[in-house]
Amino acid sequence: MIAILRNSASDEAVGHLISWIEGKGLTTHVSRGENEIVIGLVGDTTRIDPFLLESMDIVERVQRVSEPFKKANRKFHPTDTVVDCGHGVKIGGGHFQVIAGPCSVEGRNLIDIARRVHAAGATMLRGGAFKPRTSPYAYQGMGEAGLDLLLEAGSELDMPVVTEIMDPRDVELFVDRGVDVMQIGARNAQNFSLLKEVGRTKTPVLLKRGMSGTVDELLMAAEYIMSEGNDNVILCERGIRTFETRTRNTFDLNAVPVLHYLSHLPVVADPSHATGYTRYVEPMALAACAAGADGLEIEVHDCPEKAWSDGAQALTPDQFDRTMERIRAIRFVIAEDHE
Ligand code: PEP
Ligand code: MN
Repeated sequence: MIAILRNSASDEAVGHLISWIEGKGLTTHVSRGENEIVIGLVGDTTRIDPFLLESMDIVERVQRVSEPFKKANRKFHPTDTVVDCGHGVKIGGGHFQVIAGPCSVEGRNLIDIARRVHAAGATMLRGGAFKPRTSPYAYQGMGEAGLDLLLEAGSELDMPVVTEIMDPRDVELFVDRGVDVMQIGARNAQNFSLLKEVGRTKTPVLLKRGMSGTVDELLMAAEYIMSEGNDNVILCERGIRTFETRTRNTFDLNAVPVLHYLSHLPVVADPSHATGYTRYVEPMALAACAAGADGLEIEVHDCPEKAWSDGAQALTPDQFDRTMERIRAIRFVIAEDHE
């Protein structure tokens, strides 16, 4: 971290500031230029509140030199992380997976949907049993019975299951039941007690970007999980809230290469929540592949008009068949070796 001081700062004020910083256990390097004085802060800069420092009269500006995320940072871990999701399915570092299934688990139709997405080439099954709905009056999910159905389908098809966890008190249940991947949704992207609790397990976590979350906030959320000991984190871009109203969210595909640049963690993209409309899911799924996503999460329902949640963005199994074919085609085109 560096602090750039106003050139009007007196020697006495600069001296006070230096002893304040050093009093927090850091060392300082001072350089006096013609127009400004720069103090470099070396050591554990988490002990300094940059906003407090910047609020001081003689301080013009404070700049971070290194990112606050460490475990998620590619600088300290240059090779791609590969997350093992169980059932022989790995993601990241060249392993690409498609996670598909309904928004919510609604009943035994889940088994038919699972068979269809599996036959189409999806390698992981999704479905929400505990649903984070914006309205408390909307369908809240089947709860434990939904987990049972999901796991039944996962075991029949030998596919890992991905399902959302909303409450830290459910972590034990999810782990005991053998949920393969716990999803943390956009609405919980900064639920720090939930992030810490899933961090105390070894179960892979699919961590979605918050609706108004920056890339750095997503990485800091990953850091919460990893700082508790769970390195099996998969990042997910699912669209952010902007002024645009023609789509449910704005798919920030920039985030895919940006996350790859900043972090070694696998990056999945979710064109279903990012667009909100079935008609846009396929083109944006293909775009996400071309942008370098390590996987896609796509909602599929056997009868979207009867879906209990997110029917407007669901693909039918037939539509998903075609989308999978085109995903394979795009992946072939962008592959680096074409022997
Ligand atoms: C979901 O995956 O069904 C979901 C609720 O997603 P998000 O948290 O991205 O809105
Ligand atoms: Mn959904």
